[in-house]
Amino acid sequence: MFRFLPFLFLSSFAFAATSGPLLNYGRDVSTEHRTLLNNDIALLNAWPLQTQIEQDFYQVTDVVGPVSSGVDLLRWLGERISIVTGEGFDLNKNIYTERAKYDFQLPGILPDLSARMTRSAPAQTKMSVVMANMGPVVYYLSKSQGKLFGVDLAGIGKIPVSTPRVGLLQIGPGLFPALKEGKLTDLDVSLSRLFTLFHEARHSDGRGAAMGMMHIYCPVGHAYAGYPACDFSLNGAYSVEGQIAKVMTENCSKCTVAQKEKLRLSYLDSFSRVVKEKRKISQETENAQREACAKLADYPVKVPMCEELKERDLNPPVIPRAPFLDSRPEGVREKRKGFFERLF
Ligand SMILES: [Zn+2]
Repeated sequence: MFRFLPFLFLSSFAFAATSGPLLNYGRDVSTEHRTLLNNDIALLNAWPLQTQIEQDFYQVTDVVGPVSSGVDLLRWLGERISIVTGEGFDLNKNIYTERAKYDFQLPGILPDLSARMTRSAPAQTKMSVVMANMGPVVYYLSKSQGKLFGVDLAGIGKIPVSTPRVGLLQIGPGLFPALKEGKLTDLDVSLSRLFTLFHEARHSDGRGAAMGMMHIYCPVGHAYAGYPACDFSLNGAYSVEGQIAKVMTENCSKCTVAQKEKLRLSYLDSFSRVVKEKRKISQETENAQREACAKLADYPVKVPMCEELKERDLNPPVIPRAPFLDSRPEGVREKRKGFFERLF
């Protein structure tokens, strides 16, 4: 066993030298991608925040205020994300059972998994995954089976997923896209990646039914209708991403006018994914129906749509409003086995 030690020490040192201050990388993440992400983090670390930050920001994000620079935001990020794996990482092949039985917090209380937890963005006509947080996925599997699963990561080791806060992210095809103009190192491109990290970090939060702060399918009439790319909560991943992006964009002294405009559109897109209320039909459709029914009122015919509207006016339905989810984290980090314990 000892003859392996020099090699193991060497690989351990190599790992330490290539990891950034916040993120650890699986062996399948290229040097170029590591460098880009580390530079993004360094950018955040040195980010000035001079504008007045509104109370909304703190209420939505759970960032402990007052924040005065990117360092405060970096601390929030560091509590929620820690490991990045490459696009080709196959969870099915690398998941293992850490313990056959495990006492979970809030036993039996799990989120509704009818939506997925990927960060999606429009790419021409189809959506492409930008990044995914695997922590809540593995934690969900663990809890639903009563076993503690872990993930074995080449270049990092075994990670028992006893909480979504293990912060295990996977790069998607949309994180480092081939750009028609500009470079992956451009300020606005770098900021967009950072906003994605904040989005993913939010998926490490939430407890019980809110574990993972999961998305819903966007409703009919929404620009992303049918994609699991909306939130029905006021403090989910899109709200957090939007708030962080808004504050950082407003404090971007080095951004060009065009870059600021692009970033502004991006955070407006995030906010547009927050579904504030769940109506059977949208307000716009209802207004159009009312207009049509008013015109038909003088005719002696019963139109089912108009009858339904009359019935609805007599017995107004309760319209569910988006809540603030319980964003406190679930589970605790299991201590990873020490270096020597793993050897013997
Ligand atoms: Zn998401």
